[in-house]
Amino acid sequence: MDIQSLIQKYPQVDQLRKMQPIFWRNPDYGKPDPELKLTKADIFDAVDRWNRFAPYLEKVFPETISSHGIIESPLIKTNQMKQQWNQEHTTKIDGQLYLKADNELPVSGSIKSRGGIYEVLKFAEHIAMTKGNLVYMDDYSILATPKYKKLFANYGVAVASTGNLALSVGIMAATFGFKTTVYMSHDAKQWKKDKLRNYGVNVKEYNINFSAVVTKARNESAKDPSVHFIDDEGSVDLFLGYAVSAVRLQNQFKKQNIKVDKDHPVIVYLPAGVGGSPGGTTFGLKNIIGPNIHAVFCEPTHVPSVTLGMMTKLYNHISVYDIGLDGLTAADGLAVGRSSRIAGKILRTLLFGSVTFRDNMIYKYLTQLKDTEDITVEPSAAAGYTAIESILKHVPDFNSANATHIVWATGGDMMPESERKIDYDKGKEIIKESK
Ligand SMILES: *Cc1c(COP(=O)(O)O)cnc(C)c1O
Repeated sequence: MDIQSLIQKYPQVDQLRKMQPIFWRNPDYGKPDPELKLTKADIFDAVDRWNRFAPYLEKVFPETISSHGIIESPLIKTNQMKQQWNQEHTTKIDGQLYLKADNELPVSGSIKSRGGIYEVLKFAEHIAMTKGNLVYMDDYSILATPKYKKLFANYGVAVASTGNLALSVGIMAATFGFKTTVYMSHDAKQWKKDKLRNYGVNVKEYNINFSAVVTKARNESAKDPSVHFIDDEGSVDLFLGYAVSAVRLQNQFKKQNIKVDKDHPVIVYLPAGVGGSPGGTTFGLKNIIGPNIHAVFCEPTHVPSVTLGMMTKLYNHISVYDIGLDGLTAADGLAVGRSSRIAGKILRTLLFGSVTFRDNMIYKYLTQLKDTEDITVEPSAAAGYTAIESILKHVPDFNSANATHIVWATGGDMMPESERKIDYDKGKEIIKESK
């Protein structure tokens, strides 16, 4: 990897290397992409599968009874947070500011409940149909009976994760009765490991970075043909599980009278790690809602893996370590040095752009979100707020009273109280110092 010639071709690589916050606008946005193989039909196949499993989910996760087994989060208008934001920025938000509260998603309290659970459902359905006698028209709540649990116990599910994917996959797979193994990287939080062990999940810890853990987990899992490995770096099923959110969001727009057209742009701010969850979401939004909804990714200045991969068109073939970055961030869900094998390529023409931020900013915003709206999110999940200013400044069309800005809060509800307090106090301190 010759960094100097990369910088010559893509000058912003120099800023990335120096850990300066940047705004990158995707030059290929909106162009046709003949290589894009996934379609709307793939999204609706996933929608149908979630619906078939709803009776099962309602049975095993009583917190989903009120939503009839559908795992979804609210879209919350955050006027107080908008006011707060406008008080301290010279470029004001004229439009509306919302929070997509995936921090409240059942089971894992994070966006990983979409992709992670979906891939486990798909595997369970496959086993139940090929080794049991499940048919599509069955009431899937029968999968919670001892007969099926016994069947599932002959199979394994494995995943590597910085934390939240392990929670969603681990809890779901263990609930079905699969032998479940999660491989955790050095940044995984202790409380997440403890919680998984309580579910009977085999938690393996490694003092290496995430990309190295995925490789290890993939190789170990490949030795046992009865184990299904959920590959955060390249799984299409994970990706499609995330994409389903767009169908649900379209309905929330209708119910909440949020317009999307040329004069009413919607901008969605998504934190990115490997790019799977924000990528699947973006793929869904562009396919289901169309050309006037725009996705912006947010990454730490120390770990701009998706931005680097897309900017240089090297995708997963370049890592942040290659340009001399350390890959360290307090945003554990984003501590991923190399992007997914599929996300960057699929997003080539679908992603509007991305920003990078300094870690301090996410603590400031998570504390302000708590103070103004009484909503608690984990550090990664506040990343969306760091992108708003760049967008308002650089894209005049999006800085209108008709625009809707949606910060995707990707996680938080499972955090123990002690963790919440540490994060909140850190934000308070940062706000105080900046005054
Ligand atoms: C996983 C995660 C992300 C990023 O998702 P990727 O699929 O890795 O890009 C963002 N925020 C939180 C809280 C997460 O758990």
